[in-house]
Amino acid sequence: MLEVVQIPVLTDNYVYLAHDAATGETAVIDPAVADPVLAAAAARGWTITQILNTHWHPDHVGGNAAIVAATGARVTGPRAEAARIPHIGRAVAEPDTVSVGASTARVLDVGAHTAGHIAYAFEADRVLFPGDTLFALGCGRLFEGTAADMHAALAKLMALAPETQVFCAHEYTQSNAKFAVTVEPENAALKARAVLIDAARAAGLPTVPFTLALEAATNPFVRAATIGELAARRAAKDVFRG
Ligand code: ZN
Ligand code: FE
Repeated sequence: MLEVVQIPVLTDNYVYLAHDAATGETAVIDPAVADPVLAAAAARGWTITQILNTHWHPDHVGGNAAIVAATGARVTGPRAEAARIPHIGRAVAEPDTVSVGASTARVLDVGAHTAGHIAYAFEADRVLFPGDTLFALGCGRLFEGTAADMHAALAKLMALAPETQVFCAHEYTQSNAKFAVTVEPENAALKARAVLIDAARAAGLPTVPFTLALEAATNPFVRAATIGELAARRAAKDVFRG
């Protein structure tokens, strides 16, 4: 069973440690930076053995070099972006799998935010690392892909078990909620969630992780009925000022 530790860094990034107690293996997912990540592992007596990157953006790979230098960790990242992943040792794509101790993740191709973006789905553990593809009440911006790409990517993630815990890479939830309630003002589950989100943030608490089931009920991008509707919502969110 994986133990996941959330490390808030920079303005709104989350880096994660995924630790398998049985073997002592510890992976770090999308290290934006190195020092707080190494400190979080050291505080638990863990040694980072792997880095898993979801895409090439600097706030997801910025810590690779220093973590590799400090630990010798092996870097796994998206094959289609391998040239932009510092110190990559294993380039993966669907249907590859990645093991952290006794836990295994299925690699999912979810190109949209970036063209080669991948997600890591530890299905038996009910743990998903979607990077910048799926956020609480949101989805990634379409920097390199299309709305059709994002529609397919979100559908792929939503096909996982509803109780899956989603460990996304940013705390964007409060801003996403302000937009979401303009899209579906009559959605009672969404309104209730928005209240809880405001309370959590006021108390300085994270709103991540969350379940896929909650997204199915409340996320306007997941709930878009068509590619066109997703495209319109993504475009509206890009210019939304809550
Ligand atoms: Zn990104
Ligand atoms: Fe990011």
